[in-house]
Order: sequence, then structure tokens, then C-alpha cells
Amino acid sequence: MNILKFEDFNLSKELLQAIKDMGFEEPTPIQALAIPKLELGMDVTGQAQTGTGKTAAFALPAIEKIDPDNLSVQTIILAPTRELAIQIAEEFTKLLKYKQNIKVLPVYGGQPIDRQLRALRSGVQIIIGTPGRVMDHLDRKTLSLNNVHTIILDEADQMLDMGFRDDIEYIIKKTPAGRQTVLFSATMPKPIIQISKKYQKNPEFIQVTHKELTVPQIEQTYFEVKERDKLEITCRLIDIYDPELALIFCNTKKRVDELSSSLRARGYLAEALHGDMKQMHRDRVMSKFRSGAIDILIATDVAARGIDVDEIDTVFNYDVPQDVEYYVHRIGRTARAGRTGRAISFVAPKEIYKLRSIQKFAKIRITKMPIPSITDVEEIKIKNFMEKVKLTINEGNIEKYATLVEQMMEKDEYNSVEIAAALLKNQLDFQQKEEIKSLDVEFGDTGAEPGMVRFYISVGRDDQIRPGDIVGAFAGETNMPGKLIGAIDIYPHNSFVEVPMEYAKDVFNTMQDRTIRGKEISISPAKRGNFK
Ligand code: AMP
Repeated sequence: MNILKFEDFNLSKELLQAIKDMGFEEPTPIQALAIPKLELGMDVTGQAQTGTGKTAAFALPAIEKIDPDNLSVQTIILAPTRELAIQIAEEFTKLLKYKQNIKVLPVYGGQPIDRQLRALRSGVQIIIGTPGRVMDHLDRKTLSLNNVHTIILDEADQMLDMGFRDDIEYIIKKTPAGRQTVLFSATMPKPIIQISKKYQKNPEFIQVTHKELTVPQIEQTYFEVKERDKLEITCRLIDIYDPELALIFCNTKKRVDELSSSLRARGYLAEALHGDMKQMHRDRVMSKFRSGAIDILIATDVAARGIDVDEIDTVFNYDVPQDVEYYVHRIGRTARAGRTGRAISFVAPKEIYKLRSIQKFAKIRITKMPIPSITDVEEIKIKNFMEKVKLTINEGNIEKYATLVEQMMEKDEYNSVEIAAALLKNQLDFQQKEEIKSLDVEFGDTGAEPGMVRFYISVGRDDQIRPGDIVGAFAGETNMPGKLIGAIDIYPHNSFVEVPMEYAKDVFNTMQDRTIRGKEISISPAKRGNFK
């Protein structure tokens, strides 16, 4: 893998800071290939799937080309679905955290058009739209593409499959001939090549190619886990497998830090390892890990490179890696020196396809496992403990302890079963953990429509918040599709948003301390009658 830093690109300090805040440690392979070409203004056709970091690959150079003093649309991104348009808008918003005079607007069907009109009139430089809705605006002459210098077709193959070819060509033709034309697609069927030939100038074709991968022969399993349940399941699996040393991978530094503090808060001996830490600190963490003073290390791909500790018997992919090579490198940290190892991956339901592509490229099989219940954890803990007890009896040398038991039986008149049971109780100490169950949190009467929960959020019009920002943030961060969001009311200092009851707990947990348009928000269930 070609190691390159974000600092090696021609990116402004505002973007570098935003990337840092997002916790990205190094460019993904597709970013390393695409960004330098795009920065040169070249037309690029990239073959990449979702999950590879392709959005930032085209977003970063596009943002740098925007003239913030010019309030007309300068970049247009076409995406097949509103979900993707919102997701892209959300990624742009995060990247634009320190460039607040550049405005982004997702435009998609289903959203009231006058809301979009108002936003368009106020001046936006980056539009992310579904072809149908963009056509709508072009027909109404509410959108001009005369000043567009960059057009990006994302998931082009999907757009063609959905019958958008004519619309796409119409939209491209409305942009100036001197524009930069960028095309991303997971597959490269003939119609895509034709579009590229017709509308791109000397396009550079990029694709992440993989060397022949040697995958270690270890047990590879995956668990389908929702984001909010990952921590709990990690704890259960650690309790069940009781690894000698475990290495847990997350995709960003931020997630590494968050997970290590959560695990420590639950009493695990865990520490973080990532590129922001001073060398001395890293060495200290590594030597603690080697000596077993901590038995869980949480790391990013970059930080874990070169870790060579024979005793690692379990590797967790807390996040699905962005590249198949990362996966192979990660799991290669275990089963060293002829030992056995195990690799466990967590996959959110909507990420299953990423795992499929890893399996396909690496020619491996990753087996799905059922999520262990608390009872499973207890049973396995009991079984393991009983095995240890048997081993101790067989090893002998327990006369001294037998005498203690006899004394207790005589003096306090307990029988041996009672004494053994009390010892087990002390030893196993099952904490009353909460079973993961369906969402049944009571939010009370929030004044929402039936079936919905109304939330208060601490940002509003004065923070330049628009409905699209809220939809983008909520749909991007939680498992709730954007189209299910109900009424949104924006006031100067705060806003209210209604979400379906079944997503309310997810939204409430996930959106705490998140940012919308770069502003950290707090969220709480609204109280009836509390409108402003
Ligand atoms: P995408 O393929 O654009 O849908 O990106 C998938 C996810 O990877 C998104 O959540 C991005 O924020 C994240 N991402 C993009 N680039 C990086 C990077 N260099 N390091 C870590 N995460 C990234």
C-alpha cells in the first residue's frame, strides 16, 4: 500500500483541520490515487464502491476549487438516490466545518420545492442532487449551471440502471464546456464508457488494484450488529473468548479514542494506539500490551502497521475496513508464530455488501455468527471456570485449602456445597447487564404526530441551519432513512424535528454531541407545548 499523508495533497489548513476532526488518519487507496489527479484539474473516471472513501476523494479537490465570494453554483454532484445525496451532503458539511462561507444544498424529490428555492436564492456553491429534481429546477429556471466548473457523477452505473441517462446528458450539456468532469462508478459497463468518451477530456482511469493477497488461515467470523450495540457485543465476546491479547481496529482515530474510554469505563484493561500520539506514549502503550499489563489494544490501521506481538489471538474489526488489503493486514496481526487466531468483524446491516466484496477479492469465507445473549456469556463463563476448577483439583496441592474448608464446616456449621456455591458466586459475579432489546424507551408526550417523537435540538436559524442540514445529519448518522423524518421547525436558536417512534431511541443516542453544520448539538425529547 502506498503510504501518503493528507498533508501531501494541496489542501488548505481548514480542510486539513476538518479531516483531523473527522478522525481520518491517512487517505484511503482511492483518495491517494484520485486526489492528486483531481487537484490538477484532470477529468477522472474512478471505479470505486461505497465505503472506500470515494466521497471525500472527489469532495476535497472540489471544495478547494470553490470561490466563496461567488454565490453561484460552481460544483454539481449527481447521485442516484436521495439517501446518497443526503449522505454526500453530510460528508461535505463535515469537511466544510472551517469553511463556513461555502454552502452545500442537497436537492432531491420528495422535499418541498419552495424550501429548496429559498435556499438556492440565498446562494449555494455546491449542489448535490438526484437527476430528476435537478431537471425540475432547470426546467423552472430556478437553477443555473452557467458557472459550474466541476460536475461529478456518483454511482453512475446505478443512475444509468435507473433510467437517468437522458437526464444526465441533458444536465451535463447545461454546464460550460471547460468544466472538469468526474465520474465514479462501482462497475464499468459499456454505457458508462460511452458517457466518459462523450463528455470527458482525456480522462484518467483509476481503480484500486490488489496484489495477490495471502490470507492467513484463521477462523473468520462476522456479527451483524447495529452501531449502537457494538460496544456491548464487544464486551460479551471478550468475556466469552477471554483472549490473551486482543487487537481491535476502528476506522478513525476518534473512534479509537471513544472505544478505548468506553471499554476502560466498563473495567477492561484497554488502551488506544493511533497516529496523534507521541512516539514515547505509543512505545509505552506497546510495552504494556506486550507484557500483558493491558490485554486489549484499540488501533487505527496506520498505528497497527508493523505490530508484531505473537500473543495476539483475537482481532476485532469494530468497523468494516475501507479496503480489502486493510482487512488482510488487520487479521494478519493474529495467528503469528504458528499459533491459532481468530478474526471477528462487526457489520452494520447496511454494510453487508462491503463484507461481500472483501470475501470476493480476498477469496475467503467469513462465517456469520449469532449474537451471543447474556445467558450464553454466563454459561460459557461458568463452563470455563469449572474447567479451571477441575484442572486445579487434578493438579493437586490443595490440602491447605481443604483444611480451611473443613475448619469452616466445623466452626460455622456450613456444608461444603454452601461454601463452594458462595465461592463461585464471588468469583463469577454476574453483573446485571441489560439485555439488548427492541426500542421501548418512553419519551412521554412530546407533542408529535401519532407514531412520532418530537425532539428539541440546540441549533437553529442563527446557526445557518436549514431543514436539509437536519435531514442530512440525522439520516447520515443514524439508521433512519431521511425520507421518514417528519415535521421540522426551525427557530432562531433551536429547532424541532419529528422522527418515527421506532427510530427515536437510535436518533436520541446517536445524535448526542454530534455536529450539524459544524455546530455541536444537544438533543432532547420535546415537551408538549414547548415550541420554541
Ligand atoms: P464513502 O466511500 O465515501 O461512502 O466513505 C465511507 C466512510 O469512510 C465515510 O463514513 C467516510 O467519512 C469515511 N472515510 C472517508 N475517508 C476516510 C479516511 N481517509 N479514513 C477514515 N475514514 C474515512
